[in-house]
Amino acid sequence: MTGQTDFALFLDFDGTLVEIAPRPDAVRVEPALVPALERLRDRLGGALAIVTGRPVAVIDDFLAPARFDVAGLHGVERRVGEAVTGGRPEDHPALRARVPRLQALAADLDGVLIEDKGASVAVHWRLANPDDAGRAETVAKDIAAELAGAYRLQLGKAVGEIVPASATKGHAIRAFLENPPYAGRRAVFLGDDRTDELAFASVNEDGGVSVRVGPGETVAPKRLADPAAVRALLYAWAEGAPMEVSGLPEA
Ligand SMILES: [Mg+2]
Repeated sequence: MTGQTDFALFLDFDGTLVEIAPRPDAVRVEPALVPALERLRDRLGGALAIVTGRPVAVIDDFLAPARFDVAGLHGVERRVGEAVTGGRPEDHPALRARVPRLQALAADLDGVLIEDKGASVAVHWRLANPDDAGRAETVAKDIAAELAGAYRLQLGKAVGEIVPASATKGHAIRAFLENPPYAGRRAVFLGDDRTDELAFASVNEDGGVSVRVGPGETVAPKRLADPAAVRALLYAWAEGAPMEVSGLPEA
């Protein structure tokens, strides 16, 4: 196995490493994924991180017993090794004050789920009928507008998430790259959602390579068809295949 490669690998979780599930707690992690990520991290000198909208603790649960570096909540919280920054709910009183309203909304509308992450709150409407989905989106937009400046609404696939305005996956990736083992490496970021597109832009700007997973318009130069294709690539790399992104299909 050749040891050295010059990039740092940043991986979105839902829709990238795992297939999106009807409920966020119902995703299935393929058993081979965790050991493959661990081997890959070794090959990358430690420069592998999960960059996700989920809380760090939830990623730890999904990938247990392994622990990876994670930027959670779209970069609100970040853990490198044992060092954790950001993500404390008590730092977000204006958002916390509006959570009961969102919970009441979910109680009223069938198939609307609130995922309270402490420093951010996601409203899921994948399981709702179109009318209720529209209502849920409107309320999420209203609350984000009330918090404008400090928070923004990040729209994804049948989900709207109210997140601190300063937090983005792009910022999180840049923050990783400031310190070992990431510093001096070129970012390669794989993501599947429109929430990933801003991070693609900053990765491209910094000389890295972004890879869009699945269909949809993208600023990424490269594309993989689905999470199964992502896993196939990661498994091949974990087994010692040359770690190159230039040969991936054009987006
Ligand atoms: Mg995703």
